[in-house]
Amino acid sequence: MPSYYPLFNWATGTQCVAKNDHSKPTNNELAYRKGDILTIVETGQGKGLYKARHNTTGEEGLIAATNLRERKAIRIDPSLSLMPWFHGKISGPEAVSKLRPVEDGLFLVRESIRHPGDYVLCVSYSSQIIHYRVIYQNNKLTIDDSQYFYNLIDMIEFYSKNKGAIATRLLKPKEKQGTKSAAFELSRMGWLLDMSKLTLGESIGEGEFGAVYAGDYMGQKVAVKSIKCDVTAQAFLEETSVMTKLQHKNLVRLLGVILHDGLHIVTELMAKGNLVNFLRTRGRFVITTDQLLHFALDVCEGMEYLESKRLVHRDLAARNILVSNEGVAKISDFGLTKVDRKASDNAKLPVKWTAPEALKKEKFSTRSDIWSYGVLLWETFSYGRQPYPKMSLKEVKEQVEQGYRMEAPDGCPPSVYALMRCCWEAEPKKRPSFHKLQEKLAAELAKHSPDPEGEKKRGRARTRWKEG
Ligand code: ADP
Repeated sequence: MPSYYPLFNWATGTQCVAKNDHSKPTNNELAYRKGDILTIVETGQGKGLYKARHNTTGEEGLIAATNLRERKAIRIDPSLSLMPWFHGKISGPEAVSKLRPVEDGLFLVRESIRHPGDYVLCVSYSSQIIHYRVIYQNNKLTIDDSQYFYNLIDMIEFYSKNKGAIATRLLKPKEKQGTKSAAFELSRMGWLLDMSKLTLGESIGEGEFGAVYAGDYMGQKVAVKSIKCDVTAQAFLEETSVMTKLQHKNLVRLLGVILHDGLHIVTELMAKGNLVNFLRTRGRFVITTDQLLHFALDVCEGMEYLESKRLVHRDLAARNILVSNEGVAKISDFGLTKVDRKASDNAKLPVKWTAPEALKKEKFSTRSDIWSYGVLLWETFSYGRQPYPKMSLKEVKEQVEQGYRMEAPDGCPPSVYALMRCCWEAEPKKRPSFHKLQEKLAAELAKHSPDPEGEKKRGRARTRWKEG
């Protein structure tokens, strides 16, 4: 009898999710548990076999493709919602008609028309629809004056697990037309992680929307950005979707998200924090020009990858570059990353980093990222100084428009300063591409590095200095 193997065509680097446990591996096989993420490292083993590396343990071995599914990127889709059961301002009778045919545990949430600011949880039970008023008081939500919640997501999570004071556990969300459940989509694509496998550690940073914690996820060191507010969490979904598409050694890697008590975005831990603090706290007596060039090249390579994907970062700055334990710089904060197009909201733009045409005419492109990269180079070679020192944002805007450019940082090699100046050409077309810059920086590094061949052989992921 012929045997059939489904057609798998996975390239090296493909990330896969295990569909089942494989706890008793034979000789060359890899052990894994359901939900583990594995990376294909070698193809062509025949009969649906691949060599793969376990993303958390780092072990390598053979796997059968039928036990895995490819982890797919999530489409950037505005209909993706953390609250697909939220129907906004609809009346009671409308809610009732949406919950037909009746089914125990079918539910939706609407905004109260009679009591603006309050919500109503509508649940189908015993062929009836019950309306529970959700009262907003002291910044919290409650139905029964005994259980309190910070937001609707928490409340729905609670009543999905506990009956509490209501007639039934919430079993099935009635999704608003035109929305898709983010939880479902994240899980289907393999990006939903398990809260019970996460151990949270100390706080390591403060983001604009919440704290960042160090943690451990199944033996891997991770950073966790926790977003409690449901509206903000919804806004972060877009950044998360962008991150699911990107995989490069110089971009901070998304491991997945956890939906529990808000949204937790789990990324690889960048133990040495952001580049600005890193440079400021060590300074020129500790960090050599060679190391600065490594950082510059790392960022440039990450940007070259974004350029190849036609993505524009729009917030490239040293504060958004993180440094790994081995001293590799990686780009983070993809919140503003967009496919090449016009911006809509320029009130929040980081003026000192933004190209003149982007500030004035909202023209963002890879070439405006190049301008920001020039400022990042300046920050790097000045060991984390604030650009345009002592100038106000208004002065910067006006003077840069008239042709003013920053001087070279102290001790900066003239060839590196020349690169900054190319990045700050007024005419976007005259600025180099990241690809070109990468070549120039690599050549510059070869000049500074005492043993460029040895360097290549050792690989660039090695620890670049010792501390402590
Ligand atoms: P936001 O964009 O919400 O303002 P950030 O992502 O910039 O927040 O994070 C704030 C700070 O937290 C960073 O400057 C950095 O010091 C720390 N941080 C963020 N992500 C990581 C990470 N993956 N590893 C280590 N530190 C991180």
